[in-house]
Amino acid sequence: MTRTYLDWNATAPVRPEAREAALKALDLCGNPSSIHQEGREARRVRESAREAAARWLGISPEAITFTSGGTESNAAAIHGLFRTASSSRRILASATEHPSVLENARLTAARFGGELVLLPVDRKGALPSGTLERELAKGAALVSVHAANNETGVLFPVDEIVHQVRAAGVPVHVDATQWPGRLPLPSGLWGADLLTFSGHKLGALKGAGMLVNPGRRPLEPLIAGGPQERGRRAGTENLAAIASLGAAIEAIRTTGEAEFAHLAALDRWMTGRLAGSPWKPVTGGAPRLPNTWNLTLDQDAEPVIQALDLEGFAVSSGSACSSGSVEPSHVLLAMGLSPAEARRSLRISAGRLTTTEDLENVLKALERVCRR
Ligand code: PMP
Repeated sequence: MTRTYLDWNATAPVRPEAREAALKALDLCGNPSSIHQEGREARRVRESAREAAARWLGISPEAITFTSGGTESNAAAIHGLFRTASSSRRILASATEHPSVLENARLTAARFGGELVLLPVDRKGALPSGTLERELAKGAALVSVHAANNETGVLFPVDEIVHQVRAAGVPVHVDATQWPGRLPLPSGLWGADLLTFSGHKLGALKGAGMLVNPGRRPLEPLIAGGPQERGRRAGTENLAAIASLGAAIEAIRTTGEAEFAHLAALDRWMTGRLAGSPWKPVTGGAPRLPNTWNLTLDQDAEPVIQALDLEGFAVSSGSACSSGSVEPSHVLLAMGLSPAEARRSLRISAGRLTTTEDLENVLKALERVCRR
């Protein structure tokens, strides 16, 4: 049976360039910290990945720390900023952040005497105006917000948020995990103190990501040990994954525009198609990633997802990190959906290989399955 993969927000297929770079790196036996030839070769691979990322982001390679992925980057950002915070002990984060932000913020607050303050969102998943301002006025150690939500695709106005938080003298971390490859990077990102990126969302191997520190703010590392990454993140590097990340980034840098246009065309097609169906994106007309459609069904989504899987379609309910659990999505609950409504949500997320035919086929299958 042919399979149709429509769960790109959970992870993306490895790009051919990334696969090739990973395979080459697997043939290198050296540790990048060693001084012999094998070590130097491994180091060259790691540094050329860093340079590719720096070119893409238009920043200095020194601003980039390789990590194991989005979760570690988020944890390190929150830990690092909180431990160097001036006076306030309050961590501000939107209620729809990824669990790797929310749980690490809770853990950091519990460990070091702080408080996590959740910023509520409205029915469209946006921060109501004035909310952030009011909380900033009470003082904050740091603010952490995502650029785009993984479950709904909702975009936060990061340019504005970064400007507002920095103007209040508070450090700001942006989890940009879901943005690359879908839309051009917003220019305001460079004003953020820290940025999170994850390799496997953009077509690299799982197990590599980046914490970007454009202003090279001093941070207490989350993982201490050896001198890797200039002492910012200890541990021998996952060289194959880092090499693949550099290659995936290079591919995005060079073919990005075509991929953005492809996704925008899919979104136009899907918006027209959904207008004549019983399902509408839960976000209404809110600004959203062009590859993400989170639909509310008239029945529980879990059995529908299983039935679609049997028909050859991979889709998801909410975030992959919580699938398999019957807990309704914290993102949808924060948007004001009831637990029963949240359980009826089904997420289709597309990527560079998705065609309108794939989308037509999954919607037809959805119609069939829902009728049964
Ligand atoms: N943040 C967001 C917004 C995500 O979507 C994800 C992955 N679902 C993460 C962080 C965690 O990234 P990783 O899987 O690389 O740990």
